Amino acid sequence: MAAGRPDHAALGADGPALVVVAHPDDESFGLGAVVSALTARGVPTDVLCLTRGEASTLGAAPGLGDCRAVEVRRAAAELGVRRLRLLDHPDGGLADLPIEQLATDVRQVAAATGARLLLVFDLGGVTGHPDHHRATEAALAARVDLPVLAWAIGQSVAERLNAELGTAFVGRPPEQLDLAMVVDRASQMRAVACHRTQSIDNPVLRRRLELQGDHEVLRWLRPPVSAAVPAP
Ligand SMILES: [Zn+2]
Repeated sequence: MAAGRPDHAALGADGPALVVVAHPDDESFGLGAVVSALTARGVPTDVLCLTRGEASTLGAAPGLGDCRAVEVRRAAAELGVRRLRLLDHPDGGLADLPIEQLATDVRQVAAATGARLLLVFDLGGVTGHPDHHRATEAALAARVDLPVLAWAIGQSVAERLNAELGTAFVGRPPEQLDLAMVVDRASQMRAVACHRTQSIDNPVLRRRLELQGDHEVLRWLRPPVSAAVPAP
């Protein structure tokens, strides 16, 4: 596992990156530090968010989806995201949609942005949310020619969170991780603060970031050709 500062080449991108996520805030709460590391290095980074997050139990109120649409635009700007594409598939219902429909969405945005790398949540959804898992499935189904890199959390972090807070995080043991990054969370924390409805009273997020410290770990769901392990 490579450690140290994020290396654009190590991430396998020789052009724009497209972040594919389910909900407004996933790009910040989950991938925020990775995204800001890329944009700080001048990598054009776009975000495709498949829902408006209207079903969240945090900040539940009429018009929550509209409110979150505004929040995610501000957060994306904090992270240095080039373009944000926000779709309005049903929050909590991605698994009920045909995978080809979601894959088509990803394919279209990837073509429009010239993406050379897809960044997603780990399979299993990291927090265990089925929408997260489905968004990743859509990215994997969209373009077989694009590498897919997943934001993950270590197994020990997941176990601590689940024991302390009764959550359902899915972590990975070290042997399943491909990249480790030391990150600066300043931009991420500004982006997190933009998601006011979701971040003001969110002990799980606070504790996860505390346990992660300044480290992020990632795994290839589809490695770039140069990073692929040759067949024996
Ligand atoms: Zn989410």
